[in-house]
Amino acid sequence: MCNMKIGVLALQGAFIEHIKMLQKLGTTAVPVRLPADIEGLDGLIIPGGESTTIGKLAVQYHLLEPLRQFALQNPVWGTCAGMILMAKDIGRDQPLLGVMDIVVERNAFGRQIDSFETGLDVPALANGSGPAAPFPAVFIRAPRLVAANGETEVLATLADGTAVAAQEGHWLVTSFHPELTDDDRFHRYFLSLVR
Ligand code: GLN
Repeated sequence: MCNMKIGVLALQGAFIEHIKMLQKLGTTAVPVRLPADIEGLDGLIIPGGESTTIGKLAVQYHLLEPLRQFALQNPVWGTCAGMILMAKDIGRDQPLLGVMDIVVERNAFGRQIDSFETGLDVPALANGSGPAAPFPAVFIRAPRLVAANGETEVLATLADGTAVAAQEGHWLVTSFHPELTDDDRFHRYFLSLVR
């Protein structure tokens, strides 16, 4: 996994955890705060946090358009708020990269269960030696996928059928937070897309 340089958007939210996980996997990981930080990256992670805040700051720092241009050419993974920023349609007006052909609903799990953890079946994480063990998925005021259109493929659903992870070519989105667990399989999966 050497020789790869992955940026993590570091305006707000859980970016340090992503950087640590990438470093643990032997990858060069850098925080992205300025347009110049995007140069030379092989891939980008947009972390969880508050999508409205991340979007506003990205506009303020003149990052939104450079991020969109980068995403059009390169692998990007959005976790939670990052998934919202990747979506073309979230049913409301706020700054987005808006590249991925998905419809996303913010804060989709209501008040009583606004945070929860569940073992998620993710066939894409299987490594050839039988089915993948359940992935410990941490949901924090999470969005859900309302629709995955065009070439987008749903990678995981909850028991009730709610879609919570998807991939469209080199773009990956998860409603949940793999960086807050010890399980590095989603990070490895993203790095395989970058490679
Ligand atoms: N609720 C947040 C939003 O709508 C996302 C939460 C998260 O990233 N953990 O932006």
